[in-house]
Amino acid sequence: MMEVNEELHNNITIYKYNMNKNYIVEQLKKQIEGFQAETKLEKVGKVLEIGDGVARISGLSEAMASEMLEFSDGTIAVALNLEEDQVGAMILGDYKGIKEGDEVKSTGKILSIPVTEKMIGRVIDPLGNAIDGKEEIKSDKFYPIEKVAPGVIERKSVHQPVQTGIKAIDAMIPVGRGQRELIIGDRQTGKTAIAIDTIINQKGQDMICIYVAIGQKESKISRIVAELEKNGAMDHTIVIVAGASDPAAFSFISPYSGAAIGEYFMDQGKDVLVVYDDLSKHAWAYRQISLILKRPPGREAYPGDIFYLHSRLLERSAKRDEKFGGGSITALPIIETQAGDVSAYIPTNVISITDGQIYLEADLFYKGLRPALNVGLSVSRVGSSAQIKAMKKVAGKLRLDLAQFRELEAFAQFGSDLDEKTRSQIERGKRTIEILKQDQYAPMLVENQVSIIYALINGFLDDVAVEKISQWEEGFHKFMKSSKKEVLEKIVTQKELTEEIVKDLEEAIKEFKQTM
Ligand code: ATP
Ligand code: MG
Repeated sequence: MMEVNEELHNNITIYKYNMNKNYIVEQLKKQIEGFQAETKLEKVGKVLEIGDGVARISGLSEAMASEMLEFSDGTIAVALNLEEDQVGAMILGDYKGIKEGDEVKSTGKILSIPVTEKMIGRVIDPLGNAIDGKEEIKSDKFYPIEKVAPGVIERKSVHQPVQTGIKAIDAMIPVGRGQRELIIGDRQTGKTAIAIDTIINQKGQDMICIYVAIGQKESKISRIVAELEKNGAMDHTIVIVAGASDPAAFSFISPYSGAAIGEYFMDQGKDVLVVYDDLSKHAWAYRQISLILKRPPGREAYPGDIFYLHSRLLERSAKRDEKFGGGSITALPIIETQAGDVSAYIPTNVISITDGQIYLEADLFYKGLRPALNVGLSVSRVGSSAQIKAMKKVAGKLRLDLAQFRELEAFAQFGSDLDEKTRSQIERGKRTIEILKQDQYAPMLVENQVSIIYALINGFLDDVAVEKISQWEEGFHKFMKSSKKEVLEKIVTQKELTEEIVKDLEEAIKEFKQTM
C-alpha cells in the first residue's frame, strides 16, 4: 500500500512539474512575442552618472558617434560609447557644474570646430578658441573633426618635396608633400626639434604649418611658440594646444582639430604640414577615457580600436590631384618609445600606418651626433620621388659612403694595419658623419645642402682635419653666399646638376679651399 502511494505521489509531482514547465514556456513565449524594446527616439536625455571627464547619459537613443551633446549649463560633450540604453560621452571642458539628473540635448551635429585664415599666427585650443591672450577668433565656417579621407581617385602620387632643412633628412630620408612620415625615438632625443626646424624652414615655401601639442607641459609649449616667433615662423603657423593640465578629452580631440583645420586649407588648394606631437600621449588620453567608460581593454590596456583611430587620422593626409582642387596635407606624427622599443603596441601600429620613419636614437644623441638619426633604421617610402634631381644625384653617393663606413667602423681602431682603400673609406665616413651633424634652429636651404654634399662626396674635404670640418662648412656656406650667389641660384632654378653647374661648383670649391 505504501509503495503504491509513493509511486502515485511521484507521478503527480512529475505531472505537476511538466505542467508547470509547459506553463512557464508558454508564458515566456508570450513575453518574447510581445517584447518591444523600450527605446524611444529622444533628443533630450538625462545624466545618469558623471565624473572623471566622462558622463553616462540615458535617453539619447538617436545619438551618433562623435555627435556633439549639450548640457543645460552650455558645456559640450562628445558621444563616444553608444550602448543599448545609454550613451557614454566625454566632456569638453569643466564638468564641475554638471550633476546627475541634468538635462542633455543631442544636437544632431558631428563635433565641429570653426576654421578660418585668421588662425594663422595664433595659438588656439582644440575647439578653436584663442588662448594666446590676443583678440577672439571669429568664424562662421565650421569643419567636422572627423571626416572621410580622400579616396584613391582624388589622390595623386607624392612628387613635390617638403624641405625639412635638415641635411641628413632631406638627403637620405626625404619627405614629400602629402606623405606621412613618423618621427620616433625615446624621450629627449630631439623629436620635437626636427618638427620645429621643419616648420621654421617653411618660411616662404607656400606651406601652412599646424603644430598640435598633445598633452605636453604648458611651459614647454610656450618655449616652442617663443622659438617659432623668434625665427619668424609664426607667420605661417597655427599652434593647437591641449596641455597636460587640460582634460584628457582635449588631448584626445586635438589631432582631429589639426586635421580639420588642415583640410580647410587643403580644400583651397593649399599645401599644409601638420605635426602631431605626440601620438603616444594621444593614445594614453584615449586609453584613459576608454577605461573610465568601461570599454574592454586590449593589448597594453588600450581599447581595441586604437589602431583604427590612428589610421583614420593619418589617412586624412593626402596629395590631392589638381583635377580635384589640388592641395596637400603632409603629416609628421611623433611617437615616443621606451628604451628604444619599437615593437611595443602603439609604435608598431603607427609604423605600419605611415610611409616611413625617422628613427632617433638616444645613444647617438649622447655621443653628440645630433640630429640623432639612425640612418639604417630610418626610411622614406615615397619621398625620393619628390627630391630635386640635384639632390638625388649627390644623395646616392652620400648614402653609399655612409653604409660602407658603418661596415668598416669596427676596423677603424686598427688604424695603420688597414689597406689604403679601407683607410680612405673610413676617413671619408668620419667626415660624412661630421657634415650630417646640424644644430637646432639652423635649417639649411637645399642649394647649400647640395653644394656641401657635393664637396664631401667628391673628396674635397678629405684633406681637412675631422675636427675642422664644421668650421670649414660654415666658412664654405658664407663664401658661397657672398661670392658665388649665382651658382646657388642656378641650382635652385634648374634643380639639376648640369655639366655647367658642376663646373662652376667645383671652381667655387677650389677657390674657397685656397682661402683656407
Ligand atoms: P621629449 O621626449 O621631451 O618631447 P624630444 O625628443 O622632443 O623630447 P627635444 O625636446 O626636441 O626632444 O630635444 C631635446 C633636447 O635636445 C633639447 O634641449 C634640444 O634643445 C636639444 N636638441 C635637439 N636637437 C638638437 C640638435 N640638432 N643640436 C643640438 N641640440 C639639440
Ligand atoms: Mg618633444
